[in-house]
Amino acid sequence: MNGTLNGKVALVTGASSGIGEAIALALAEQGAKVVAGARRTERLAALAGRACGEVVPVALDVTGRRSAEAAVAAAVERFGGLDVLVNNAGLMLAGPIEGADVTEWTRMIDTNLLGSLHMIHAALPRLLERRGAVVQISSTSGRIASAASGVYSATKFGITAFAEALRQEVTERGVRVVVVEPGFVTTELTDHITDPAMREAARQIASAIRPLRPDDVAAAVLYALTQPVHVAVNEILVRPTDQS
Ligand code: NDP
Repeated sequence: MNGTLNGKVALVTGASSGIGEAIALALAEQGAKVVAGARRTERLAALAGRACGEVVPVALDVTGRRSAEAAVAAAVERFGGLDVLVNNAGLMLAGPIEGADVTEWTRMIDTNLLGSLHMIHAALPRLLERRGAVVQISSTSGRIASAASGVYSATKFGITAFAEALRQEVTERGVRVVVVEPGFVTTELTDHITDPAMREAARQIASAIRPLRPDDVAAAVLYALTQPVHVAVNEILVRPTDQS
């Protein structure tokens, strides 16, 4: 174990698959005590079992404020405080605006945007105590909107806006705020798209380029979190080389 995060406590949301799972494993490998949150707790238990380091599963639904508070409380109770919140839980239900199933809009806003906000609200007092860090997993869709990703983009633009406001409020008290904006990553994200044409389009993109792997995003997060305390890496845009 390299141990660059020895003594740190991290809470990672959406750690049951994809990018969140890779981040949880990478932080644990660097010596952090990791609390891994998601709804599929059986997957979290499996993750904890194969982690190189300490990973504790916690049932978490970020759309519920009480659940967010309980996850933060669980981290503090188990490890005595919180240094890092990685807000990663999210979903992308791509599709055109015209004729959309608006319940999908609500799910994306509740999870990607409001969920992140709930987590920050619950965690911030603890992060201020330890001069910690917030990592927001946004997206290239948080910088550039495109057809068929209007609401997903809106949530990711929203995350970035909120993160900048938060940064201005807390940076002088030592809390660092990092926004990570990945391009196309091979995960389960696109499996949840309900529109068959959109799912097929995502499949075609994935087969036409060399997408990022979850580990590539975890490496970006690790980079930001392991800088000296006077260095705030506020934004990382990381795309597949092949992605135009
Ligand atoms: P996955 O579908 O593999 O992972 C999504 C994670 O979010 C799962 O662990 C899921 O866990 C969790 N999650 C979803 N809803 C909730 C909820 N209500 N409460 C708690 N956890 C929840 O996709 P990715 O790993 O790709 O996505 C992770 C993040 O990365 C997302 O925010 C996504 O927008 C972002 N991203 C992904 C890109 C990509 O190309 N894959 C590109 C740019 C950004 P569970 O269902 O067990 O609760």
